Amino acid sequence: MTRQIAQVAVDNATIHFDKRYSYRIPPPMQGRVWPGSLVLVPFGRGDKPRMAVVLAVQEETQENASPRLKSLWDAAPEQARLTPDLMELVRFLKERTFCTWFEAVRAVIPYGAQYRCTLENGRPVMQNCLNRTTERVYTLAGELPAKPKPGPRQLAAVEALRQGPLTARQLEERGISKPTLDTLCRKGVLQEGRQDRMLDLFASIPFDPQPITLAGEQQHALEALLPDLEDDRPHAALLHGVTGSGKTMVFLKLIERTLELGRKALVLVPEISLTPQMIRRLKSTFGSRLAVQHSALNNTERLLQWRMIQQGNADIVVGTRSAIFAPLQNLGLIILDEEQEHTYQSESAPRYDAHDVAKKRAAIENALLVFASATPRTETYHAAANGKYKLVTLKQRYGERPLPKVDFIDMRAELAAGNPREVSARMAQELQKNLDNGEQSILLLNRRGYHTVGMCTVCGHVLNCPNCSVPLVYHKPQQALMCHHCGHTVQPLPQTCPECGGKLRYSGFGTQRVEEELAELLPQARVLRMDQDSTGQKNAHEKMLAEFGRHDYDILLGTQMVAKGLDFEKVTLVGVLGIDSLLFGQGFRAYENVFSLVTQVIGRGGRAELPGRALIQTTVPGHPVLQLAAAQDYEAFYREEIAFRKFGLYPPFCAFCVAGFVGAQEGAVALAAHRFGTLLAERAARRPHIPMRLLGPAPMNISMLNGKYRYKLTIKCRNDAAFRALLRETLEAYAQEKLPQKASVVLDFNSDGDL
Ligand code: ADP
Ligand code: ZN
Repeated sequence: MTRQIAQVAVDNATIHFDKRYSYRIPPPMQGRVWPGSLVLVPFGRGDKPRMAVVLAVQEETQENASPRLKSLWDAAPEQARLTPDLMELVRFLKERTFCTWFEAVRAVIPYGAQYRCTLENGRPVMQNCLNRTTERVYTLAGELPAKPKPGPRQLAAVEALRQGPLTARQLEERGISKPTLDTLCRKGVLQEGRQDRMLDLFASIPFDPQPITLAGEQQHALEALLPDLEDDRPHAALLHGVTGSGKTMVFLKLIERTLELGRKALVLVPEISLTPQMIRRLKSTFGSRLAVQHSALNNTERLLQWRMIQQGNADIVVGTRSAIFAPLQNLGLIILDEEQEHTYQSESAPRYDAHDVAKKRAAIENALLVFASATPRTETYHAAANGKYKLVTLKQRYGERPLPKVDFIDMRAELAAGNPREVSARMAQELQKNLDNGEQSILLLNRRGYHTVGMCTVCGHVLNCPNCSVPLVYHKPQQALMCHHCGHTVQPLPQTCPECGGKLRYSGFGTQRVEEELAELLPQARVLRMDQDSTGQKNAHEKMLAEFGRHDYDILLGTQMVAKGLDFEKVTLVGVLGIDSLLFGQGFRAYENVFSLVTQVIGRGGRAELPGRALIQTTVPGHPVLQLAAAQDYEAFYREEIAFRKFGLYPPFCAFCVAGFVGAQEGAVALAAHRFGTLLAERAARRPHIPMRLLGPAPMNISMLNGKYRYKLTIKCRNDAAFRALLRETLEAYAQEKLPQKASVVLDFNSDGDL
């Protein structure tokens, strides 16, 4: 047999040294190692065990053979191998996001499907990160002999299994016990096997398909999209529909057609809080061949769902960002709902945007990709307006329901009148009115905690986190100050200034404080607070939303979690609090984010029979972004925004890359950032046809995080292969000068101006 060599990429590499390494495949492993296989190798001078992924397998020849070549130590079984499709996504992530091979591998497969190294008889071997949970499954292997006369249970078992294999659990539900099954196996009537345990996470949701009749506009949208679903080429479309226009109904019809075509569908939602609602709709319409992938599942659930998909037992997958890597085969449709949400962009390596991965997958699979939103990203709408995506529009709410009527509450007047509360008198009145009418309200305040900051009344000192350059936030239940970045906690609550001993004053409002105000202002109202602190427990979102849906509460108060996608018929009032700080936030997407948040939350009201109204509290009621959001006029907003982007040279008119530098010594970090800029500029000067503008270095908005200093360079460029090659060369040169020891570097193409 000719000998084989595997080229692998190892775990724990830095981006500068993420190379291909060659290993000999020992004879017992030959034929078991493929591109995409996970293997264990001896690495470096000390032969330390490292996990690795195989990139290529070659025959050993005179050129590549070397007596110094080491051999692989172990290889995972074939079913753990990354399919060629997944490997293509791994390659894509590496090329686009400058991550390492193994970071990409970890992104595309869940933790439970990964391996780690352990010792067996003193020898390093691979072990599953999670033990797989399997269950017994029975198949019919022969006929029941007439004698001795079979019992009723035995007959029932054989009868049930005529339709196909069943698990022990399913048979038990039919009253057939293990001894009966064992007897039948001994007689050769049944065969026992093992399969991954199937897990029906949504067993309680009934399969109850209701006929869907689309409204005229929805039908037109569907008809515009169907040809792109039915032909076997990749397509992308933007479904732009006002809030409450019934985009979900169009999705359901598209999915139905996808399944008829024998293909599969992937539905992404921006956050976990929106998955229960989507699952409910899909499960009741399409039944149980539905799988979920999101981070609130525990590792076992996640793995079992993933295997279900991998083994072809799911037709529809719903999930958050990372579900874009779900190993579905024959994918026909990908939907990104609320496509403008920044949660589609990963903020740690690999720093990918699910939009880009979705486009890549649609191209690989010849699928239709649908971006959907009432307030699309400016870039997405621009692409649609220029014919790169098909633009499909829903202008009307379903059932000709009017959009909510929006009013402003001028907080300058409130302040002048001496109201110390965040909830204005007018807002309180309107909430009361809703309460009296038995209707529900949603209040948005995008700030969690109780007070925002503590400041000394004498010297003006602000209580900052010692590890991060941000103020600490008071959390009432814990009676503590907490850092929202590193979790640093100060207890008991300081009363005097650590600098001068002066009296501290706490000011600003978070959701916890507003919850308390509401209790004072509207003592009979049942208030449900929903933010990161109140939804820590498993299934908390689902439970809370279900309770609000049952009208166990009158007011839903929360952060951006309450703004999007929710559909409750009794909500007729939406209130927006504390929006101004976002309006004056940094980053070139600040206006887009405010427009989207306000439009979306307003859109939660008046979605059924009862008309809705909305109130926005602000000190700048005349601000054009708020005015446009109140009018829910996306096109007008887009025209303003695209002009601003063009004038300031921002996406979509260029790519926007932030290079972040992080290290322990401030001076060294600043110098390293500066040197990176020089290295890049030198290389760019040699290739004048590659357009580029370089800004900085400058400290990041949060200049210290977890005790490390942070600087950034801002690069406006064209994100193409030529430019990425330039960046790669610069990274190498940076590593050559041993600068990563002074400041690690990350590159992010999805940033809003900062990391
Ligand atoms: P969007 O996602 O566009 O904001 P939804 O899909 O949530 O809107 O639809 C808004 C409301 O209108 C939902 O309660 C939905 O059930 C209802 N609806 C929309 N289209 C239809 C339809 N064709 N038939 C029945 N109800 C519909
Ligand atoms: Zn901190």
